[in-house]
This record gives sequence, structure tokens and C-alpha cells, in this order.
Amino acid sequence: MAEFSLIDRIRQRAGSRPDVALGIGDDAALIDPPKGQQLVLAVDTLVEGVHFARGVPPSAIGWKALAVNLSDLAAMGAEPAVALLALTLPDDDSAFVDEFAAGFAALADTHRVALVGGDTTRGPLAASVTVMGYVPKGSALTRAGASAGDDLWITGTLGDAAGALALWTSGLPMLRTGRLRDRLDRPTPRLGAGIALRGLATACIDISDGFLADLGHLLAMSGLGADVEADALPASPALLEAFPDPLLRRELQLTGGDDYELCFSAPVARREAVRKALDAVATPASRVGSLVAGARLRLFDADRLPLPLPARRGYVHFAGSDA
Ligand code: ADP
Ligand code: MG
Repeated sequence: MAEFSLIDRIRQRAGSRPDVALGIGDDAALIDPPKGQQLVLAVDTLVEGVHFARGVPPSAIGWKALAVNLSDLAAMGAEPAVALLALTLPDDDSAFVDEFAAGFAALADTHRVALVGGDTTRGPLAASVTVMGYVPKGSALTRAGASAGDDLWITGTLGDAAGALALWTSGLPMLRTGRLRDRLDRPTPRLGAGIALRGLATACIDISDGFLADLGHLLAMSGLGADVEADALPASPALLEAFPDPLLRRELQLTGGDDYELCFSAPVARREAVRKALDAVATPASRVGSLVAGARLRLFDADRLPLPLPARRGYVHFAGSDA
């Protein structure tokens, strides 16, 4: 494969930052981290046929490969800085690489993320992205740290991406799935919200595998349970229109996945502060329940009647090994 010409195509869109002393082109990159900051690192891989279907536009794959990683940094309250890209391609397809790099760069430029290196190999289509960001020492948001009585919050809306996938796999034309499909292909990482929540949220996680599954991780790490009002889960106008059946819609919101919203806890006394902080970064948020002592997750409807938990809580890569 013309590996070097492919790398050159990517390098043209790599971007730069003052803290990058040496980017693409040497054996490794050199970064000058700002004083007093902790490095925050995450990696996520998208594999064709597992995380995206054949036929998804290359620019959307490039965008999403970075977006899912930036979402992890957002959930830590980190500010992103640089990324590494390991790209596995079935063949020497420069048009694919150009479009992929354009999608990747569109999101990277928005958040001043520089691409500082990577690897290019031949094999089944997959993109693995590593991101590094910064957070002032001691101020990262983690999954642990919530207290009983804290409010449970969600940014944005849930279920759009899962709705798009459901419509798409049931054979509906792309047009009908428009707004929802955009949430599936080009998720928006909640970076501004994550930073705004430093010092306010007591625990935080991004929702990638489904609300119930990821909330379960936050609860396990915080050693708590939760009471969740299912009818308070935020739904977009597009989801309401495409899925008028409340039961089906609720299922998508609870277990769908690929939302890349933040789920976080904060003390009741900070309700107004949370609102103001998120308003300042134009991020909508909803209170959907509260954390309770014990390990139980309970769902209620708007009349406080208990609802059964869905048997399947979210996406499971290795069935049998997770909730
Ligand atoms: P090495 O053999 O030292 O791993 P490579 O030939 O794999 O070097 O890469 C050459 C340079 O190009 C390195 O700086 C590497 O980080 C960068 N690079 C390779 N592939 C990519 C990619 N897909 N995206 C960004 N940078 C890449
Ligand atoms: Mg290499």
C-alpha cells in the first residue's frame, strides 16, 4: 500500500497547537503539558460491521471515531488536546482516507485538537483513536463520588441514535430518519458541559452503551442505587415524531446507546448552580431521578408507579460478561 501518501493526506489536516512540540513524522510525538494539569487519556475503536455498517459515509466514520473518544474526555471534565489515529484499511483507498480525514478534522478543529501521530495498516476496516486532554490536578470527574440524595441529571436527549438505527434496520428510507440519523453518524461530544461541571458534579459518565447500562457503571463505582423517573428522560422532537408509541420510545431511551450525552450526579443544593453552568455553555439538561443508598436501580413512571427494568440494559460486546 502507498502507506506514506495516505499518511501525507491525513497529515495535511492534522492541525497544530502550542503544546505540541513535535507532531506527525517522527517515531513519536512530543507534548509539553501545561503546569498543574493532569493528563487524561482514552482510546476507543470503531470496527466496520460492529460499530458502524458498511455504507456509512467515510466522513461520518472519521467524525465518530474522534467523537466517541472526546465524549470520554468530556465525561472526565477534561479539555481535549491531541489525538493519535490507528487506521486499518482493506485497501489503498485515497478517496476513503480523504473523506475520513475531512470528517475527523471537522470535529478536531472545532475543539482545537491536533492529530499528532498514528499508524496505518492493512486489514478489515477499523479506526482506533487515542485522545489526550488536560484537567487541573484533582478536579477530574469520575464515576465514583456520588452521594445518596444527589440528583441524577442527563444532558441533551436520549434515544435518537438508537431510533435512527431501528428505523434504518427496518428498511425505512434515509430521508425519514434525517435528524435522528445525524445523531447516530455525527454525535456531539459534551465537552463544554464536562468542563462546566467541574466542582459541581459529584460523579459523571458518558452514555455510549445505553442509559441503564452506563448508569449501572456509575452506581457500581459510587456504591449506590437510583430511583429514575422514566417519563422524565428527555426526548427530542424528532424521536417523539418518529416513535409515537411511548413504550417503544422509552425502550430506545433506556437501552439504546450511542447517545454520547453525559449522565451525572450533583447535590440538590447545587441545582441552580448546575443550571447556570450548563446554560452558560448552551447545554440543555434534565433531572431524571435521584441516587439512593443500596444497590437497587428502580424505574418509575410519571405517577410514581414502578416499572419493570428491561431485560437487556444496553449494548453488550461479549454477551454473558456484562449487565
Ligand atoms: P513507525 O514505523 O515509526 O511506526 P509509521 O510509518 O507508522 O512510523 O508512521 C510515520 C509517521 O506517521 C509517524 O509519526 C506516525 O505517528 C504517523 N502516522 C502514521 N499513520 C498515521 C495515521 N493514520 N494518522 C496520523 N499519523 C499517522
Ligand atoms: Mg507505525
